Amino acid sequence: MQPYELIKAKRDGGRLDPADIRAFIQAYTAGTVADYQMAAMCMAIFFKGLDSRELGAWARAMLESGEVLDLSDTPAVKVDKHSTGGVGDKVSLSLAPLAAACGVPVPMISGRGLGHTGGTLDKLESIPGFNVNLPTSEYRRLVREVGCCLIGQTAQVAPADKKLYALRDVTATVDCIPLIASSIMSKKLAEGIDALVLDVKVGSGAFMKRDEDARLLARTMIGLGAEMGKKVVALLTDMDQPLGRKVGNALEVMEAVDMLRGEAPEDYTEITYALTAEMLVLGKKAATVEEAREKLRKVVEDGSAVRKLKEIVQVQGGDPRAIDDYSLLPQAKSTTDVVAPRDGWVTAIDTEGVGLAGVALGAGRQRVDSKIDPAVGFTLLKKTGEKVTKGEPVVRVHFNDAGPVEDVKTRLLAAYRFGDAAPVARPLVRERID
Ligand code: URA
Repeated sequence: MQPYELIKAKRDGGRLDPADIRAFIQAYTAGTVADYQMAAMCMAIFFKGLDSRELGAWARAMLESGEVLDLSDTPAVKVDKHSTGGVGDKVSLSLAPLAAACGVPVPMISGRGLGHTGGTLDKLESIPGFNVNLPTSEYRRLVREVGCCLIGQTAQVAPADKKLYALRDVTATVDCIPLIASSIMSKKLAEGIDALVLDVKVGSGAFMKRDEDARLLARTMIGLGAEMGKKVVALLTDMDQPLGRKVGNALEVMEAVDMLRGEAPEDYTEITYALTAEMLVLGKKAATVEEAREKLRKVVEDGSAVRKLKEIVQVQGGDPRAIDDYSLLPQAKSTTDVVAPRDGWVTAIDTEGVGLAGVALGAGRQRVDSKIDPAVGFTLLKKTGEKVTKGEPVVRVHFNDAGPVEDVKTRLLAAYRFGDAAPVARPLVRERID
């Protein structure tokens, strides 16, 4: 395998041999293919793509670059969910305890915030003491005994992806369907799952802005799952505005707990129910999504979903009292409001703009090594389709450092569009693909 020849072949639109792909990824993981060679290969793939045989080989090589975790000591069907990333997307925080409370074991390896999108690990770490860096043996035990474990990617899980992801992030090769699909699926299939639900976000706050791209990404990931013998279902869900009303790490934990109590905004609740219901069907705890939804309503009503979250928090070193008493979560010292500049309706929200305003405020990272402030973020007092009067607050900014606040408010105002009539509402779940 000659890296130079493979890069040149892909650059010129050629097809790579699966054995060469495997050797190339192995050598990259071992450090004998240099970062600049992998960067050139990713750019060649960005322009020329991978056919299904190449993609299968690429994803399998990434998966096999590390350990494939064995959770066979948990006999039930283990199901995870993966989202392609959004703003205000706290679905995992409520979905994992909901599914576990209904008897579906959830082994979940999550990521940190990326670009304008938030990350489950950052949100979980806003719960005092919560430890996302557990060893594999503990991960296995908690999935078996508690029915859920939420951790970060370890050095053993898909190390090729860990290295490649950081490289793609700085070489403008993230938004490339074969590279996204193989990155996500290699990590997810290494977790020890039997089945997977994909939440493919589409809209102004998603990496995929157009339905057709989201659909292609979903189909690509489903194809990779099928090749590896796993059942995968994808929902294309709306990310044309932030999900729910809270954006920011501790704020999103509060809204997630509200959801488990049946008190969260409708869009967030609906998308969580839709995704978790698919997990219950895949996990054989319900025959239909309607039956699954009934079970979800029951564990919310009888309190077992909140109890499951507290149990997860407790066993992962966090303070479960923070689930009942939000004053134990990080709190921003001050708030200020962005107000409507005119009478009318909110007609659209540039959701990526809201995400970037969150990063500027300190809720997300400007650089890989930036420290985030778990307390800061936004409450969206008005969302798309809601009526406003001039001077009425539309977004509440929760902050500690006043430095970036004026810039953040300007960004938020620029992200909101106002008009004379309410826009036509689009469905929250745009499509289901299996
Ligand atoms: N999330 C991932 O894990 N990988 C990508 O490439 C994009 C989003």
